[in-house]
This record gives sequence, C-alpha cells and structure tokens, in this order.
Amino acid sequence: MKNNPPANFHEVIIIGAGFSGLCAAIRLQKENRNDFIILERAAELGGTWRDNTYPGCGCDVPSRLYSLSAEPNPNWSRAFSKQPEILAYMHACAKNNDLYQKIDFNTEVSALKFDEEKGIWHVKTNTGETLSCRFVLSATGPLNHITIPDFEGLDTFQGDYFHSSQWPENFNIKGRRVAVIGTGASAIQIVPNIVDTVKQLVLFQRTPAWIMPKRDKEIPTFFKTMYRRFPFLEKMVRSLSYYFYEIRGNGFWGNTLINSVAQKIALRYLRKSVSDPELREKLRPNYAIGCKRVLPSDDYYPALQQPHVSLITTSIDKIATDGILTKDGQLYKVDTIVFATGFRASGDLIDYPVSGRNDLKLKEEWGHTGIETLRGIAVSGFPHLLFLLGPNTGLGHNSVLLMIEAQMNYVIDYIRQYEQTGAKYLNVKQTAQALYNQKIQEELRGTIWASGCKSWYLDKHGKNTTLWPGSVTRYRKETKEVQLEEFDQIPS
Ligand code: NAP
Repeated sequence: MKNNPPANFHEVIIIGAGFSGLCAAIRLQKENRNDFIILERAAELGGTWRDNTYPGCGCDVPSRLYSLSAEPNPNWSRAFSKQPEILAYMHACAKNNDLYQKIDFNTEVSALKFDEEKGIWHVKTNTGETLSCRFVLSATGPLNHITIPDFEGLDTFQGDYFHSSQWPENFNIKGRRVAVIGTGASAIQIVPNIVDTVKQLVLFQRTPAWIMPKRDKEIPTFFKTMYRRFPFLEKMVRSLSYYFYEIRGNGFWGNTLINSVAQKIALRYLRKSVSDPELREKLRPNYAIGCKRVLPSDDYYPALQQPHVSLITTSIDKIATDGILTKDGQLYKVDTIVFATGFRASGDLIDYPVSGRNDLKLKEEWGHTGIETLRGIAVSGFPHLLFLLGPNTGLGHNSVLLMIEAQMNYVIDYIRQYEQTGAKYLNVKQTAQALYNQKIQEELRGTIWASGCKSWYLDKHGKNTTLWPGSVTRYRKETKEVQLEEFDQIPS
C-alpha cells in the first residue's frame, strides 16, 4: 500500500468458498501472501458441492483428477466420487490449511467499486460493512444461477416442486409419483437413484444426451494403501488420467476420428443396454457427440426400462394443479416435480453492481460484448478484478480444477509483476482483450460445440462464452506468465 491502508483493508479478497476460493487461498498461503480473506454468502463452504445434494449427486470426472494437486487424496473410495465425499474432501482441504479462520461466512457481496485515486476496490457486503482490497478474486463459479422454465400454471401446482440443486433436506420421495424435467448431467444421476423408491417416475426429455459407460467402481483397499505408502503412484495415476482426457479432448476441437469412435461406442452402448426399439429411438441423439456435455452413466439406461418409468418426449404445454400437461393434451398426474433444468452459465457471472474505472459498469460493458475477459481472468476497465473459472475457461473434456490451478499461476504472477512495476494499478488494454476474444471465438467456430445443437455453453446470441477451445496443457502454458505488454501501467 502506497498510502495508509484504510480500515478493513486486505491485500486480496476472495469471493466464494467453493473449489476456486479454496484453491486460491491455499495457493496464496503457499506463496506466503497471507493478507487475504474469503467472503462466503452461505453458512458453509463447498459451493456447488454444498448446494447439490440430490440423490446420487457425484462427479463425472474421476476423483483422482477432480482434486487439487496441492491436496492429493489417496483415500478416494470410488473412481468417481459422490457429493458427500467431495464435500468432505473440501472441508479437509480447508482444515489442513487452517482456512476456516479466513472465511467470513454469511457474508454476501452486494457491490464492488473501484477507487481510481487509490487503486483499490471497495467491497460492500450485506452485513453493512465495506471492506477494501488491492485485488478481488471472484471465485463464485458458473453454476449458481438456477433455471426453472416459466411454465404456465406452475404457481397452481398442488404438489411439491424444486430445482435439482435445491433438493429439500430429508425430502421423503418414497411412494411418490415424480416428474423429472430435463435429461442433463443432474437428471441422469437423479433418475437411477430415486427409481427404486418412487411409485411412478415420468421423465420429460427435450433432447436426448449422448451417454457413455462410466465404469465407476470402488477403489480396493490395497490400492488406497499403496497410494498412501507411495504417493508417487497416486501422482502417476493422476497423470495417466490427465493425458487420457487430454487426448480424448481432441474430438471436441476438431478431430473427427476420435469423435466417430466415441459416437460408435455410445451407440453400441445404447443398442446393448436398451432392448425396446421404440425407447432406443427416443434415446438416440440426432446431433454430433460432444456438442452438448457427454454424460457417463452405468445405471441411467437400466433405470429407464423399469415398468413404472416413462420417458416422455412430447413438449410440455403447461403445469396443471395435479400434474404436467403435454402439447398432445395428455395429462401426467404427479405429486412431485424435479426441475433438473440446469443453470444460466453463459449469462452474467456477477449479479451485483460492479463499477470500475471511469465509473464503467461491468453489466453494461458485458451487455455490449457478451461476457469477455483476457485469458478468462482479467477485464479491461476493471483493474485487479480477477476471475477464477471466468468466461471461456470451462471444459468439456477434463477437470476444471486444473483450469483453476492454472489461473492461480497467472494471478500469482500478476501480483508479482504488478508489484515490480511500481504502478498504481494495471489495466488490461482493450485492444489486447478484443484480440484475445476474437482469436478464441475463431477457434470455437471450428469445434464440435458449434456444430448446431443448442446448449448452455452458448449465450442468448449463440456465442460460446463458457468453454475453452483447447487443451488444458495449452491453457497452462498460456497462463504461466502475465504478458505485461497486454496491460497499461497506471502510475501513482
Ligand atoms: P443441463 O445439463 O443444462 O440440463 C438441463 C436439462 O433440462 C436439459 O436436458 C434441457 O433440455 C432440459 N430443459 C431445460 N429447459 C427445459 C424446458 N423448458 N423444457 C424441457 N426441458 C428443459 O443441467 P444440469 O443437468 O443441471 O447440468 C448442468 C451442468 O452442471 C453440467 O453440464 C455440468 O457441467 C454440471 N454438472 C456436473 C456434474 C458432474 O458430475 N461433474 C453433475 C451435475 C451437473 P435441452 O437439452 O433440450 O436444453
């Protein structure tokens, strides 16, 4: 701090105590940068892994990869862990790194304002407090704005309804007649995990997903013991998975051979798993594999073939008091509706006002261009506001935790280089940001995600603002160091 720091000043404020926030905190501590706090709106850490507690909730990326490299866990019980184990792992990471004392729980950010004169941010919270900091790390993730379609009549429904990520605690689904709307990543985990408990299950599918065998299994005790005794083995398995997923990723960004092999495997899996030709036909996607998220599951197809399950592909017309009416006039009587209808990931990443240099408003800026940053991290006009899992840094092929770790390499280098410049603050050059996004968008045009399907990867203008168009290896390389020429240095 060049002048005297204001009261309540921290070098870094991290917003959100999900995986990004924890990863950021662990890395800052490792670099001996301890003047930071984490603001968390909920009463508990965990982000999406705290919120999503629906039956069967788990990760479709192997745990060996879906974990922080600074916090290896030889004790994962399964190849693909379930939500309780992932949340427990996050708590263990916080405990091992003494992070609870750094988290202000029940503290929601309500506004961010850049103070040009001092080159710092003022962070207003719902507690009425205003904090200040040099760097804001926005670690709120892309999957926290739920989508419930605006179906006519929903307010008249006499039963229970909720979004998949707001599953009511201790909700007793036993013996209920349940509708699940949506067949994305959440639904295909929910359906097999409630099917044996409910009386009747009606699944409303708008677009079938490409399903691959998951081959999830328990990790035998012998392997866990070996990983504990010989940590290099655990690292080796992680590396092998990493490269396997990186190679597979080529199918998403243009390798047609990999894609056609993947498509053949998925179709064969469908053929072998579903005996009824009519049901099989309904489940056969008619778009290129990978265009929407490919979903691994071993138990989804078997669940759909139980006698009390129906797959409905006619569009929903409206919600009646006692069920769901489809466009063909059919009423499906249910007492519970689960909206597995996803999230608004391509809209605004921040829903409170953010004002930057010259009183620029982030919402307005992004209103012109769609959400855009430099390298998914820094934004022109909003100096030292840095995003983790920001625009165009999501993945279709590998673990996003690897992207967060790469972003923290960049953030640490950014802070270090900023300090060396002696500038009041750094601001991304508009031209650098525009050029970067132009290049990303050009690359995205050649990927499978631009092959014509409708997905949450695309914003309302059809622009892909969520996914990174290449390998993690490349992103790591490109974020290893800050290119100072991409920034204006504003003198004190
Ligand atoms: P999603 O993949 O966006 O799926 C939403 C589903 O709801 C789609 O099938 C969609 O149909 C359907 N839908 C939306 N509006 C509808 C409407 N008006 N009428 C009928 N159907 C409608 O959402 P999600 O399953 O919650 O998953 C979101 C993301 O969360 C995933 O892609 C993934 O990144 C993450 N996730 C990850 C895991 C994991 O294991 N790592 C698990 C769960 C979720 P259309 O396809 O036709 O749009």
